Amino acid sequence: MSGRHEKEKGVNVQVLLRCRPFSDEELRTNAPQVVSCNEYSREVSVSQNIAGKHIDRIFTFDKQRDLYDQAVIPIVHEVLEGFNCTIFAYGQTGTGKTYTMEGECKRSKSGPKGELPPEAGVIPRAVKQIFDTLEGQNAEYSVKVTFLELYNEEITDLLAPEELSRVALEEKQKKQLPLMEDGKGGVLVRGLEEEIVTSASEIFTLLERGSAKRRTAETLLNKQSSRSHSLFSITIHIKEATPEGEELIKCGKLNLVDLAGSENISRSGAREGRAREAGEINKSLLTLGRVINALVEHLGHIPYRDSKLTRLLRDSLGGRTKTCIIATVSPAVHCLEETLSTLDYAHRAK
Ligand code: ADP
Ligand code: MG
Repeated sequence: MSGRHEKEKGVNVQVLLRCRPFSDEELRTNAPQVVSCNEYSREVSVSQNIAGKHIDRIFTFDKQRDLYDQAVIPIVHEVLEGFNCTIFAYGQTGTGKTYTMEGECKRSKSGPKGELPPEAGVIPRAVKQIFDTLEGQNAEYSVKVTFLELYNEEITDLLAPEELSRVALEEKQKKQLPLMEDGKGGVLVRGLEEEIVTSASEIFTLLERGSAKRRTAETLLNKQSSRSHSLFSITIHIKEATPEGEELIKCGKLNLVDLAGSENISRSGAREGRAREAGEINKSLLTLGRVINALVEHLGHIPYRDSKLTRLLRDSLGGRTKTCIIATVSPAVHCLEETLSTLDYAHRAK
């Protein structure tokens, strides 16, 4: 393990594991626990006797505790220094991706003194850290955010103000937002709403508006929410003066991604042909895995162009960027197969 670590020191991909607590339903049915995490030794063990077959696999991961303090603060620092970074939540539906990224929505609003509740997820915490830092500095800055959803390789703007009826949404869907190269190694989504924000609380309002729109559109258009990705991006420009009196502009971007349920790709293994026909394979999720793999393995060709998500994130994956994958799993036996496949994914990304 340590040899592998040494070799890959230069790769800025960090993987964390998060195992959610038992749900009320799992507690009620006395679901056996098959995942145990030793946070101290950073070991995860998965074991269960199934039809006489003993499965016992142990992987070592980066820190999983105090998720934000240990893993996200350094990433936000990088962003404030002018680099692009990405944080993903990856895992089976129902294992806590949205909980990790957003937290309990109703309660993530800041309290009277601006402090966040303990349930607040990565997005509100990152937003707070960004504004606390910027407001404490003596520099000019601007912050803008975009919030989009990717479903079946189609982009929906979650911030665009518009009527939320089925007819209006269907009409809008016919006019897909096109992706274009920006000539600087990144891409632009033409027509995507960019909101300039001046305080953390403004972002919380936008986040809530976008999430509400996502839920409404899902219901009205009969979408399967587990198949969509959401991408919340915060771009920060900071104007600083060098000691020589020159002006320096730093531009950093933080991408926060709540990925589609990992069951959308792992099931494809044995019956890939059929799953592909049924459109069950999530192209963006599959390609993201290949891109991360190629970066970690130092392969020459990185297949960014193969999906919308990886094209959108091209300027924020690889090179001088930091990537954090938070892999989420359930402790219960009925999720065992997906848990093992999530652990495999996380292990390969390391
Ligand atoms: P996903 O987005 O991966 O489908 P959710 O974030 O919706 O999963 O989580 C499923 C349920 O589990 C929610 O009710 C959520 O509140 C709960 N949950 C997930 N992770 C945790 C956690 N770490 N602590 C407490 N509850 C959690
Ligand atoms: Mg979710």
